[in-house]
Amino acid sequence: MSSLGFQSIKFKLIVMFVLAGSVPMLMSIFLIHIQSNQIMQQQVTAELTESVIARDLILEEHIDEVRLNADVIASLPSMISFADAAQNKNVIPDHVLELAGNELALFQERMWGRTHHIMLLDVNGQVILNAPHDGWLGGNTSTLSMQLNHGKHLGKTIEFNGQSMSAVTETSASGYFDYIDDGHFFQLVASPIKDTIGQVAGYVVLEVSIEFIQEIVHSAFQIGETGKLFVVSREGREIHHDVSAYSGHVHEGIKFDDAFRAGKPLIGKYIAESGQEVIGAFVSSHDGSWGVIAEIDAAEVEAPVRAQYRMFLIITGLGFCGFGTLIVFTGRMFWKPMREVVVAAERVADGDVWLEIDTTRSDEIGELQSAVDMMRLSLKQQIDHLDSTVAERTAELEYANEQLHHDSVHDKLTGLANRVVLTEMLNKEILQYKSDSSNLISVMFFDFDRFKVVNDSLGHAVGDSLLCSIADRFNNELRDTDLAARFGGDEFVVMLSSVNGEQEVHEAADRLLKLFEEPHIISGHRIVSTASIGLVIADPRYENADEMIRDADTAMYEAKLAGKGQVVLFDEQLYKDALFRQKLEEELPFVVDQDQLKLMYQPIIGLDGMVVLGVESLIRWEHPTLGLISPDKFVPIAEDTGQIIEIGEWILRESVNQLIEWDQAFGLDGSHTVNVNVAKRQLCHPNFIAMLTDVLKKSGLDPMRLKVEITESTVMDPRHDMGKVIKQIRDLGVMLAMDDFGTGHSSLSLLHEFDFDILKIDQSFIQGMEQSREMSAVMHSIIQLAKNTGMCVVAEGVESESQVACLISHECDMIQGYYFARPLDANEAGKFLSFPIEVELAA
Ligand code: C2E
Ligand code: CA
Ligand code: CA
Repeated sequence: MSSLGFQSIKFKLIVMFVLAGSVPMLMSIFLIHIQSNQIMQQQVTAELTESVIARDLILEEHIDEVRLNADVIASLPSMISFADAAQNKNVIPDHVLELAGNELALFQERMWGRTHHIMLLDVNGQVILNAPHDGWLGGNTSTLSMQLNHGKHLGKTIEFNGQSMSAVTETSASGYFDYIDDGHFFQLVASPIKDTIGQVAGYVVLEVSIEFIQEIVHSAFQIGETGKLFVVSREGREIHHDVSAYSGHVHEGIKFDDAFRAGKPLIGKYIAESGQEVIGAFVSSHDGSWGVIAEIDAAEVEAPVRAQYRMFLIITGLGFCGFGTLIVFTGRMFWKPMREVVVAAERVADGDVWLEIDTTRSDEIGELQSAVDMMRLSLKQQIDHLDSTVAERTAELEYANEQLHHDSVHDKLTGLANRVVLTEMLNKEILQYKSDSSNLISVMFFDFDRFKVVNDSLGHAVGDSLLCSIADRFNNELRDTDLAARFGGDEFVVMLSSVNGEQEVHEAADRLLKLFEEPHIISGHRIVSTASIGLVIADPRYENADEMIRDADTAMYEAKLAGKGQVVLFDEQLYKDALFRQKLEEELPFVVDQDQLKLMYQPIIGLDGMVVLGVESLIRWEHPTLGLISPDKFVPIAEDTGQIIEIGEWILRESVNQLIEWDQAFGLDGSHTVNVNVAKRQLCHPNFIAMLTDVLKKSGLDPMRLKVEITESTVMDPRHDMGKVIKQIRDLGVMLAMDDFGTGHSSLSLLHEFDFDILKIDQSFIQGMEQSREMSAVMHSIIQLAKNTGMCVVAEGVESESQVACLISHECDMIQGYYFARPLDANEAGKFLSFPIEVELAA
């Protein structure tokens, strides 16, 4: 037991179990009760037995006494004399009569009550002497008186047990119901009178009073309230004084024979005449001529026991009720509060940690309550802690958000607004313009040239300072209603609002253009960074800022193409171009599936022997409504959208298959080659080499017959290292051609870094070659250098005979151009490959 003492459930349980022990206690009480029942019965039967034995003795004594008296009377000389005289038919002398009569009357008087009449009988059973009940004539015992007033039986013949008296040879008692006198039963006791020689001379017969027997038997008998005593005949019939009371009923259940044989009283339980169950004791007289029964209602004997039994039942019932209540109460003592604890714990589990849990109990449940409450408290603390942490974090987050917002609306470097802010402001202005178009808005897209060069050559710090200097100029020049934003890199966008007419926009653009022609002095460097400006003026068709900015960007791109320091207004043509571009962009994804692509093949001629060496495959889009679209228009878009991957693979397979088909269709010798243009995005694709390998494998084409054209600008792109993929292509055995040489920024000295087989000189060189001698010289040295590094040279865009002649003189290897053939369809190209060319060159 813990410190809880009497409060503890353990203690309560002990109490409970002690109480449970009371059940066996009750059981033992019950057993004792049963025993007491037995004892009680024993007591009653003992009393009954005792009673019957005592009565039997009294009766025995009584009858013995009667017999004795009968014998005494029979032996009286007077009786003998009287009987003798009567037998001999003598006249009885008066003195004999007087003496016998007096003595008989004396005995009769003395024994009156116990016995009734005493009679003297002759041997035939006839009453010869019988004193009257009240004696002879008032005590007069004279012979005369006797003769005049004799007893009422005189002269009667008495039978003994229904037989003649002669059957009686010695003193005997008759049955109880054999003799009736005056409406009453009497038992007769007869004693033979013997004369002097021992002959039976007569009998003395006494009427034994049954009333007296009943009297002596019933005197001082008291057993319970229903206790009864009977004297019965041998057959079990109750003796009666009055004949009228006699019913001849036999007491059933009484086995006198058994009792006689046993020689002791027997006990039995049986149904009495009354219909009641009784307990009875019965004893047989020593000669079996009568029996004594003492009986008592079993109900009376069992009544106290039954009462006790009822009481026990009540006590046990009450005990059980009490015990049950106790258990329920004891149970409630812990399951109810336990349930409360469970409910509280569930509440805590549901997240309600604020409601205190009752901890007033001082038992184990109290300990449990405290533990749960502790749990609740610690949870609450954790939640509070969490709350404060969340609050802290939220504050931090808010601060960070503010910071982020600041950063998000400002360009970090220049402090100008950023794209988000400009877009937002412009959107507002567009909305306003839509409701009132009197105030124009304009967007200018700025791109500054040389910025990349400055960054690369003078370092990023100078580049950054240049951008800041540009921002400063915007800040100084622009009005408050205007907004300049940096879009990243060297791209700036300016929004002019509340402009009066287009003229003002153009003037502002010109002014800004002029402003940026001025050099920036940064860290001692004098940097000129001219602006290219794309201009857009508000128009009702613009729905949002993005559309205006996009068009300004397009115009700026055009301005850049047009050369340094230009302003280009986004006009109808640019708008159409943009729409066109958009349309192509939307339809490009379906060109392969819808079979709208077509390849044209332009022959490449070897100057040595003037033979067709192969073709370059050139893509066309046969648009169902727009007609034939040139690759310049859609290939860049396909590159932007990534569609070039799918299209490029199609071109490669188609070109390779076509070459094999020509071989078969025109019986070619299998030496011709096909040049396939591959875009940068294709080369950068991780699957390119696998795809190329697959194309070769499936077609079975000798890899040497395939020439991959990669433009100079792709090869030279500083952002992507093409070295690896170029090497992989080479490893497949495929030839490599550097396309459009002369348009990029590569220098001749870098040529040998990449292992190209062929150098294709851009057509701008070919066209310039004739016009300037310098160009021609450059051309010459390019060809020589290429040859020195083991490359073959192809001249592109050769249109005239003179160009051919010139190229021959420069020892160019191959020629491609309209002069020999335009791009041809597959059939024409096949034919071209199969016939020798007829060229006549002027000397
Ligand atoms: P490119 O690779 O330099 O192709 C040569 C272009 O010059 C072709 O234009 C061709 O028709 C044209 N050309 C040939 N000879 C002459 C000539 O004597 N005079 C003039 N003025 N032009 C000549 P095309 O077919 O319109 O292709 C233009 C460009 O589109 C190609 O330039 C190439 O960069 C690209 N391209 C064409 N086909 C493909 C292709 O299948 N894949 C990829 N990625 N780009 C392709
Ligand atoms: Ca090409
Ligand atoms: Ca080219």
